[in-house]
Amino acid sequence: MYNFCQNEGIQRFFEGSPLFLRLPEILFQESLTEFKTYRLLITFEALMPENTIALLPEHVANQIAAGEVVQRPASVVKELLENAIDAGATHIRLLLKDAGKTLIQVIDNGKGMNPFDARMCFERHATSKISKTEDLFQLHTKGFRGEALASIAAIAQVELKTRHANDSLAQLVSIDGGKFIGQSECQAPLGTSFTVKNLFFNVPARRNFLKSDTVEQKHIIDEVERVAIPHANIHFTITSNGNEILNLPPGNLMQRLKSLLGSYIQKELVPIDETTSFVKVQGYVCLPNAATRSKREQYFFVNNRFVRNPFLNHAIYEAYKELISFQSHPKYFIFLELDPKDIDINIHPTKTEVKFTDDKTVYMLLVSSIKRALGKANAGPTLDFENEMSMDLPLKPGPNAFAAPSVNVNPNYNPFHSQTPQDSPLQKVNRQHWESMFEGFKQEVDTLPSPNQSAMEHLRQESLDFKVFQLNLKYLVTAYNGQVVIIDQQRAHERILYEHFLNAKPDTPIATQQLLFPEQLELSANDFQLVKSLLGEFKQLGFDVEVFGKNAIVVNGTPSDLEESNVKHLLEGILENFKLNTIDSKIEKRDNLCRAIARNSCIKYGKALESGEMKQLLNHLYACENPLYTAGGKVIMMELEAGEIEKFFKR
Ligand code: ADP
Ligand code: MG
Repeated sequence: MYNFCQNEGIQRFFEGSPLFLRLPEILFQESLTEFKTYRLLITFEALMPENTIALLPEHVANQIAAGEVVQRPASVVKELLENAIDAGATHIRLLLKDAGKTLIQVIDNGKGMNPFDARMCFERHATSKISKTEDLFQLHTKGFRGEALASIAAIAQVELKTRHANDSLAQLVSIDGGKFIGQSECQAPLGTSFTVKNLFFNVPARRNFLKSDTVEQKHIIDEVERVAIPHANIHFTITSNGNEILNLPPGNLMQRLKSLLGSYIQKELVPIDETTSFVKVQGYVCLPNAATRSKREQYFFVNNRFVRNPFLNHAIYEAYKELISFQSHPKYFIFLELDPKDIDINIHPTKTEVKFTDDKTVYMLLVSSIKRALGKANAGPTLDFENEMSMDLPLKPGPNAFAAPSVNVNPNYNPFHSQTPQDSPLQKVNRQHWESMFEGFKQEVDTLPSPNQSAMEHLRQESLDFKVFQLNLKYLVTAYNGQVVIIDQQRAHERILYEHFLNAKPDTPIATQQLLFPEQLELSANDFQLVKSLLGEFKQLGFDVEVFGKNAIVVNGTPSDLEESNVKHLLEGILENFKLNTIDSKIEKRDNLCRAIARNSCIKYGKALESGEMKQLLNHLYACENPLYTAGGKVIMMELEAGEIEKFFKR
């Protein structure tokens, strides 16, 4: 109350007003916050007949604020997870029902709240994280605006159970559409549990705007990933409609990435690590050949907070220039650490945008550290560090500006003259060249009356001057128009099968080969539900699958053109891939299933191929709509242009 009266602005505003005299009365009605009281008074003021302007009642103001903070269930998840992290939790559980539309519950073992805070946290601008302007420039927490809980409570039915270490009993607070229902004592473990039910129940227009459960759940998983990656030391478990869908045990960053994305990710990534007096850059970037068609695995964290920053994103692409094709996107998980005073997070209510006081330095440093990391991994031309320094980095003066480079494999390489003779032609993978090569093949394919049917015909005609050999049981090497073409056999076949399955129509399904001995498979509850939801798609793609009691299926037949003999293995692989793709990117389920089947039934590395088989593979590949990339965006072929071969031997 004392604080309130000290607020000069408000005091002046009310001076002389008859309401001012009633101030103590109002103030003692409830333990109100400064803002609430302010609002209440002005609402009274507005009741005076001669006034036309009124401040919105608080619950309406909160609903409006909620529009900024809460767009969908995923926004609630983000805010609650961040609060749990700020509370120092080491284990955070997220429970969802109907993709968060019916229920979102976050349970943490953090520090909890005392009875006063338990009620107070729902007030707008109620925060324990900042108290004065200067704190805004020293932020070390995720939250600070103090409006998340007030906003969430305005548009849902919220129940908070929380216990602080100093208290023997927990507090139970219920708020319904911004209306305080009650506060009582109860038993509960240390920490906090927020239950958010029926989101937007009182704003039907917004509720109707929500997308399907699949889409909303994906948004939630996205948010979970953004929070879970920079907090690998925290255990997260996520349950959806009673099934555990993610369990992320505590560990280091690489372990977290592996449990989120699959253990394959480790082979694709190289570490980056640079420190200057101004910024510390750490994390992982992918090898050029692991770049994909999707931009999903691109993460920037600034002081452990997920951010978007198109300018820095550009720095990454700059570092990969010449190393990846224009349709490919590098994966990255980059952590920048700066003094909070050098960043301004406070430019967007949902706080994913960030401004730096000196973003050019960060840009330069990113480019050079990625180039160096790729160089060390022999995946790209290494930086000549002296040339790099000549870019005049606008370094802040400091005792230990740039760390000296530890490895410098190719001192002649100049990253700004990529066509100099010092370039290794073998390292160059260039999009224009691929395209021109593909043009050649495409014309050839285009001359076919109907590419799919007559590919074999074409093969027979071409077979006389068409030479191909297998390298390391992995690549097919051939020559075309004076260029050497190297094709990845596994990826090529994966692409062919993918298009084959994708082209199956309801009236022309893939033929089924009945199994001599139908195979019965026991599945996890999750996988069983998944297969059930995909029965129609499986059938169209040539699988004869039936459900068989609780959590079991029987496979009676498989697509007739598949060679895979181990049906159990095949099905498990397909489900695994399907699930991985669901986390990985937003692809439609039939497309996803085609990808998963292709991935699991294609010929693998290590398989020796006969000359006829190789030619058939290449012809089928050239007849594909997109012979350059797998459905997942991996490069299928590389070429060495005649000019480059010439150049190499001129040295
Ligand atoms: P902000 O996080 O911006 O401070 P919120 O509305 O999200 O605002 O939360 C308000 C306050 O409630 C926080 O500052 C914190 O003190 C308290 N709080 C919220 N969630 C938790 C939690 N899980 N554990 C302990 N305290 C919490
Ligand atoms: Mg918060």
